[in-house]
Amino acid sequence: MTKILMKTPLVEMDGDEMTRVIWSMLKEKLILPFVDLKSEYYDLGLEKRNETNDQITVDAANATKKYGVAVKCATITPNAARMDEYQLKEMWKSPNGTIRAILDGTVFRSPILVKGITPYIPTWTKPICIARHAYGDVYKNVEIKVKKGSKAELCVTDTDGNERRELIFDFQKSDGIIQGVHNLRSSISSFARACFNYALDQKLDIWFSSKDTISKQYDHTFKDIFQEIFDSEYKTRFEEAGITYFYTLIDDAVARVIRSNGGFIWACKNYDGDVMSDMVATAFGSLAMMTSVLVSPDGIYEYEAAHGTVQRHYYKHLKGEQTSTNSVATIFAWSGALRKRGELDGIDALTTFADLLEKATIDTIESGIMTGDLYLLSSLENKQKVSTEAFLDAVGSRLAALITDR
Ligand code: NAP
Ligand code: MG
Repeated sequence: MTKILMKTPLVEMDGDEMTRVIWSMLKEKLILPFVDLKSEYYDLGLEKRNETNDQITVDAANATKKYGVAVKCATITPNAARMDEYQLKEMWKSPNGTIRAILDGTVFRSPILVKGITPYIPTWTKPICIARHAYGDVYKNVEIKVKKGSKAELCVTDTDGNERRELIFDFQKSDGIIQGVHNLRSSISSFARACFNYALDQKLDIWFSSKDTISKQYDHTFKDIFQEIFDSEYKTRFEEAGITYFYTLIDDAVARVIRSNGGFIWACKNYDGDVMSDMVATAFGSLAMMTSVLVSPDGIYEYEAAHGTVQRHYYKHLKGEQTSTNSVATIFAWSGALRKRGELDGIDALTTFADLLEKATIDTIESGIMTGDLYLLSSLENKQKVSTEAFLDAVGSRLAALITDR
């Protein structure tokens, strides 16, 4: 079999624990036999991050900026326990946070649907993709507990030193609490562009929701920025692609999402996205079947699984016990990245390979072969639970057959 040739390297970011184990097996069984993989490899495993004072993460993000497409393995975000476990010099920041800040990107999460696993909302026959604005609002807030008798004001000082004051509340009768939040026009604009670009990329309608009727300055500014950018930069391209942009109030959006069949992107403000992405992921069945892609406003893509490093399974693996860890979201991170690389470089064989890799994965599960997490959920009668490695092998043989049949 002749291997598919690549032009531009894919930025490959390795990671930690069980997903690192999956990473090397996946490459060996599903990628390297078929693709003459050209990748620039960055080891974001915690040991290497510690050794390089986290420079490796910055280098990986910059390489992604240079080449345009990356695939990332799940990584440990250190906490106190990890400081001891890995004897860290510092509690290094989340690699995802660092990469997101450098690429100024928005994260889009979509579930992978398979027969036998019915969403809790059975009318959701197509995926719902959540785009979460990852800057500001309550996540960068300032809060104060206020004593009875105090008066709280908002005060803004402009460049000339002029002050503008607004009363928040006069706490005459009771103690209370106040909160200051902010956002940036530049960040909201980047979010809007990333959303519209991704909608065009995926040929999906996009919804955006906020509470502009109540929040007439704050949320209304989000609504206005989305509309201005849509009208001036995207309207024609959306018409050509046959997709729509739809704005509605957040509560109306929730009601419509529940009644929908799926098949669209739902752009959410930071807090709404935090809450709704967990609701949507759970309703679709399994975190292990959720893909994630970071898209920058200038069209740079970083693909990964939405789940973590599956630590509990890794400790079993270290003890020599058999694991049954789901590799589907990691496989789809690879297929997503290779497809995008194929599209950007005009390599049809690579795009087709990505499609076949996804088909082989879904066919394997729909034929009854699955890992333990799906085995618990699946309604298929002939279902059988297999190990981490046996699942990858089963996908590998289907993939080889699909490729030879063409
Ligand atoms: P996790 O790795 O997502 O796993 C939580 C639990 O969900 C697992 O114990 C497992 O349940 C189930 N699960 C998740 N993915 C699975 C898969 N592929 N196959 C089968 N079951 C799966 O979250 P965590 O244990 O809270 O975090 C572990 C590490 O991951 C942490 O150090 C965290 O910082 C990191 N993390 C990284 C990312 C990222 O890089 N994007 C995201 C989240 C967390 P059972 O144990 O019941 O089988
Ligand atoms: Mg959350």
